[in-house]
Amino acid sequence: MIDSRFFKQQCYVDGAWIDGGNDTIAVNNPATGEIIGTVPKFGREETRKAIAAAERAFREWRHVSAEERGNACRRIHDALMDNQTELGRILTTEMGKPLAEANGEVAYAARFFKWFGEEARRLYGDVIPSPFGDKRIIVTKEPVGVVGSITPWNFPTAMIARKAAAAIAAGCPIVCKPASQTPFSALAYGVVAEEVGLPKGLLNVVTGSASAIADEFCENPAVRKITFTGSTPVGKGLAAKASAHMKRISMELGGNAPFIVFDDADLDRAVDGAIACKYRNSGQTCVCANRLYVQAGVYDAFMAKFAAKVSGMKVGDGLEEGVAQGPLIDESAVEKSLEHIADARAHGGEIVVGGARHELGLTYFQPTVIRNATQEMLIARDETFGPVAPVFRFDTEEEVVRMANATEYGLASYFYTSDLGRAFRVCEALEYGMVAVNEGVLSTEVAPFGGVKDSGMGREGSKYGLDDYVNVKYALIGGLGK
Ligand code: NAP
Repeated sequence: MIDSRFFKQQCYVDGAWIDGGNDTIAVNNPATGEIIGTVPKFGREETRKAIAAAERAFREWRHVSAEERGNACRRIHDALMDNQTELGRILTTEMGKPLAEANGEVAYAARFFKWFGEEARRLYGDVIPSPFGDKRIIVTKEPVGVVGSITPWNFPTAMIARKAAAAIAAGCPIVCKPASQTPFSALAYGVVAEEVGLPKGLLNVVTGSASAIADEFCENPAVRKITFTGSTPVGKGLAAKASAHMKRISMELGGNAPFIVFDDADLDRAVDGAIACKYRNSGQTCVCANRLYVQAGVYDAFMAKFAAKVSGMKVGDGLEEGVAQGPLIDESAVEKSLEHIADARAHGGEIVVGGARHELGLTYFQPTVIRNATQEMLIARDETFGPVAPVFRFDTEEEVVRMANATEYGLASYFYTSDLGRAFRVCEALEYGMVAVNEGVLSTEVAPFGGVKDSGMGREGSKYGLDDYVNVKYALIGGLGK
């Protein structure tokens, strides 16, 4: 149990807290294995009620002024920030990331509410010069309607914020289905909604069977948009079902980020960027460096500096002071890291740091660095989602761009160079939705986050983030006379 008024073990529907009967889901703390609570296991019927509540809320909310919608978002921002450490503690306890990262995630989530609250007032339309003297052409943006949201466990607060903030700002109610492993950060939004006085049904949180809730989202005609963040296979299945009912969709899916270091890079900067990019959240982010490509001339120097820093990382319970890497989310995450390491070894990879479970046991894993990685390894193709850094050697710019693009994914990419011409050339050549040059962390609410290829469609954050939550309406006003 967590002692906090934000810790709720019921679902939040139509402004009320609802039990799910005897059918519940137990949630554990990955740092200790201890069960911290249970949440209801909702199915289609309960989800239908949440959608109906959202539909009722939509009748009013769609007519609320942009300023008021913006103010509501701002109040959510303030509530998140006023309770940042309490919310951060819930997040770390259910998910495992170090407390400093959890507090950072709460602040990051809050910034989406601030940003979209401001953007609500700039949801401009257009007046198009009419080809007809007696007619006018006006374009407005209208909220799509009820939104169904499904989010993963790795950023339990922020992934909801990117969706809920945009939806509420655009005029749409939302029904959120969080990951079953981290529902408490999501349910805390229900407490926030109550405390800031959101209208009933505007923000609902349901926990339970992913497939039943998703089926209801897909088949219920009141849901007009489905927004999903999670793995590519689940996203593809959901997109196929949603398309049968012609639902608007946004898909934030998996990644396989390349992190490239050219000979002319600032090496210390590249090493710091690689640490932040690879080991943040124990390597469990969709934008984590999955493949590190280092040019031959600096390969050994990079390896020496990088391995030294990785060896010094403190692993432990995220609630402990000074911990840089918490546990992985569960046993299967550990198995995947082990599988990638074994495969890398079999293909000639050399383990320079780590390579095994951590002595703390449970789901703790040693931060790992692999030397002499090659494109034949599983890790070159598959998202590890763990603290394992394979370092590949390359010779030319052309070669590394080819290797970086040799994946079905296209979310984030990174490279380090001091050559301006190369910065532009490589930026344009990388087939990714996001490119960071000389930086290892790129997420911010003011920029469009999203991928290409199998990494999905749609953008979250930035001025583009509202587009996914509005319909463009064209009105022709005729008979005006000359
Ligand atoms: P996941 O297994 O796809 O789960 C994500 C969400 O989908 C959870 O809420 C899960 O519910 C639900 N789900 C599971 N099966 C479903 C189904 N058949 N139909 C509908 N929903 C279903 O992904 P994950 O392992 O939690 O998250 C890691 C993945 O997310 C990685 O691939 C990562 O790259 C990606 N990710 C992408 C972004 C981005 O912005 N592009 C951000 C973060 C993470 P249950 O928990 O109840 O099973």
